[in-house]
Amino acid sequence: MTALVLIEVENGRVRQASRSAIAAASHFGDVDVLLLGEAPAEAASRLSGIRRALHAPSLKHALAEQAAALLAGLAGSYSHILSAASSTGKNILPRLAGLLDVQPISDVVAIKDESTFVRPIYAGNALATVQSSDSVKIMTIRSSSFDPVSEDGNEAAIETLETPADDGKSRFVKLEQSQSDRPELEVARVVISGGKGLKDASNFHTLLEPVADRLGAAIGASRAAVDSGFAPNEMQVGQTGKVVAPELYIATGLSGAIQHLAGMKDSRVIVAINIDPEAPIFKVADYGMVGDLFEILPALAKAL
Ligand code: FAD
Repeated sequence: MTALVLIEVENGRVRQASRSAIAAASHFGDVDVLLLGEAPAEAASRLSGIRRALHAPSLKHALAEQAAALLAGLAGSYSHILSAASSTGKNILPRLAGLLDVQPISDVVAIKDESTFVRPIYAGNALATVQSSDSVKIMTIRSSSFDPVSEDGNEAAIETLETPADDGKSRFVKLEQSQSDRPELEVARVVISGGKGLKDASNFHTLLEPVADRLGAAIGASRAAVDSGFAPNEMQVGQTGKVVAPELYIATGLSGAIQHLAGMKDSRVIVAINIDPEAPIFKVADYGMVGDLFEILPALAKAL
């Protein structure tokens, strides 16, 4: 068996979520990685435990149509094709599965054997063990469930690939990307999240950032906070946002709706700050503080 992992590079480094997908792929034998676009292939070739780094530099913007066509052409050589359950992976792999007429398996959290996998269902309230009889298994991996491989492996061979002809169905228009020095939300050790109780966008900066700075934390948000324009979409935690499992999750001014819990309830220690003692977030919190976040957060930043 040989697995292929579609990886993503950010600022010259392979994203931690992709390195977790490689760790998952190592259950299946040899692992090749595929890197799209102009990022340096050297970053990929040093990943621990990989056999080969395939590089498609002409596929600059990782458009799903072209990337899926490229992967479909490679699929015959692999038993498993994986990626992180990131926006890129979730954009490309289902399309690939459609082209190959196989059932994609999303958000895998554990691997039982080469065809049996565990994945969450019902917004994370149950775990399903699923078995696939497809000849090639197409899977996205929940990064918080697999320890990432290191970046100090032996130099693997790099092979440059030709890109299939553009079918003209989609074209790249522009990329809008927010820059942040904070850790990636999905892999941060500490996350502090804000909800509707923050009341406006400026409070995300003035109240959450000082605490996040002191703890080296990533900042998350509830969907209500995102929908209200308090925080950008990529900060949303939950069923339709990102799934996090940090060592410490601090939930402030968010009620703890089931769809939010789906994205953070596996955090090791959960701290909730909410003015309403009946807020559902207290049911999953290890430590709860009933009070006004406008008083508590500045005091917490000061104490830290
Ligand atoms: P609210 O529920 O309005 O809670 C605000 C909280 O702030 C209250 O508990 C209040 O007591 C507290 N508060 C107010 N003022 C203060 C103060 N001064 N000090 C301290 N506490 C204060 N939601 C997500 O978060 N992520 C998702 O991915 C997601 N996906 C969804 C998918 C679907 C299909 C659906 C239907 C919903 C989804 N939702 C998701 C929305 C979810 O149901 C909730 O509406 C949302 O999580 C509520 O956000 P909130 O807790 O910030 O707001």
